Amino acid sequence: MTAGALLSATACGGGSGVSEVGATSDGKPEVVAAFYPLQWLTEQVGGSDVQVTGLTAPGVEPHDLELGIQQVTDLQNAALTVYVKGVQPAVDDAVDQEKSFDAATAVTTIPAGEHEHEGEEEHGHDEVGYDPHLWLDPSRMATVAGKLGERLAAADAAHAQAYRDRAAKTAATLTTLDQEFTKGLTTCRSKTLVTAHEAFGYLADRYKLKQVGITLDPETEPSPARLSEVAKLARAEGVTTIFTEALVSPKVAEVLANEVGAKTAVLDPLESKPSGDYVSAMRDNLKTLQTALGCTA
Ligand SMILES: [Zn+2]
Repeated sequence: MTAGALLSATACGGGSGVSEVGATSDGKPEVVAAFYPLQWLTEQVGGSDVQVTGLTAPGVEPHDLELGIQQVTDLQNAALTVYVKGVQPAVDDAVDQEKSFDAATAVTTIPAGEHEHEGEEEHGHDEVGYDPHLWLDPSRMATVAGKLGERLAAADAAHAQAYRDRAAKTAATLTTLDQEFTKGLTTCRSKTLVTAHEAFGYLADRYKLKQVGITLDPETEPSPARLSEVAKLARAEGVTTIFTEALVSPKVAEVLANEVGAKTAVLDPLESKPSGDYVSAMRDNLKTLQTALGCTA
């Protein structure tokens, strides 16, 4: 059965008193979002017409998520799962293709990091051939919002207009955010981002910055050769700030910062729920970037 058939069946089945697969007892489609930025987006677009469940708990690094029995059940029962293929191998393996929306299919992807990653073959990042961190570009997120709105509208026809309206509103918010980034990062002393893990490729792509990731994968310790390569690059480019992230130990970044005489600052790859929401955390990232890169806007 397709997601559409399933959803319309449940939409028409209200009042039977029996909770059908993929719907809450009040008939709302249950949508599973794989990790935070997708959860935020699904809540914005789905609004009160869907019940959204986040698969990755706050504070958990999503890449190496292992699914428990409850999570596998949630995935199987969901009317729709929203994910990005390549971020979480466990989720990629468990999703039902018929009842899922892969945000990577909605946008133009960029290739995965180019440097060599010894011992990282097992990691989801480089299995799909593209960089999966597409949520760090608000303009691509705006595109995903539109496509998700269409997907929900097709699946739950009774609320189609509401999904489209919310998708348009969300896309407009994201477009404004994109314009703030474009304006804020136009005139900068430096355009090089040295990051803890290679999460910011889309941000770099969109705003014409250059990302140098210490590692590709947050769980991997960089080799001494990679560290000295990054140190050399950082010196050559006059980098004054090495970026760290909340869920990755800052130790390696601090050692590197010390070595090249730079500071560290936290740049949030939004792989877990921030203290605010997607938009406020991205605005914080913009401020951090402007300070670190010496931008005048
Ligand atoms: Zn990542």
